[in-house]
Amino acid sequence: MSETAQLQTIGYTHEHRPKVILTIASAKNMGNLEQIRQKQLQLADPSQSKPDVSTMPSIVHLGYGVHGNEPSSAEAAILTAYWIMASQSDLAKNLRENMVVHIDPTLNPDGRDRHSLWANSNKGFPPVADPLDREHNEAWPGGRTNHYWFDLNRDWLPLAHPESRVKVEWYHQWYPNVTTDFHEMGTNSTYFFEPTKPFGSENPVVPRKKLR
Ligand SMILES: [Zn+2]
Repeated sequence: MSETAQLQTIGYTHEHRPKVILTIASAKNMGNLEQIRQKQLQLADPSQSKPDVSTMPSIVHLGYGVHGNEPSSAEAAILTAYWIMASQSDLAKNLRENMVVHIDPTLNPDGRDRHSLWANSNKGFPPVADPLDREHNEAWPGGRTNHYWFDLNRDWLPLAHPESRVKVEWYHQWYPNVTTDFHEMGTNSTYFFEPTKPFGSENPVVPRKKLR
């Protein structure tokens, strides 16, 4: 337990791995966390009067690894948490003072474990970068999906799986100002950024005017 970080378990996967959120904030904000959350909810509720945002920290949510076989994503989550907490740079100090950062290191722990087992069972020494090496060619179904081989990045609307359900339930407790969704691309791919093309990711339940 630290006065600037706390780890909470928000639920469990099909294979009973914990779903965790690490919250990082200044000691002052950490001591005031529930009050900060209530104000943030007030900000998201149009029926309530607008709170004084100049005194409120930004709520940032960093989500990693919805695809379990994109391992650098969850590794980056750990390094990011360490940097935000330990760095003595002005940027990190500024973040700690003015933000509450929630880190979800892996949205799909079951898939990540399936992938890790494959990689650790098949890697050699020295490491082999050849994409044809067995380490880099998981046997089907691979670690992209969860226990039921469902791509959790397609579950945000149906919410058929516990990993997504507990996450969305948590999300409604905070309504973060910033949300990120970190993936890993293949070494021969460019990184994917939105927008791709006009209305490239059109959703039947999201009006077009919201996408501009
Ligand atoms: Zn991905």
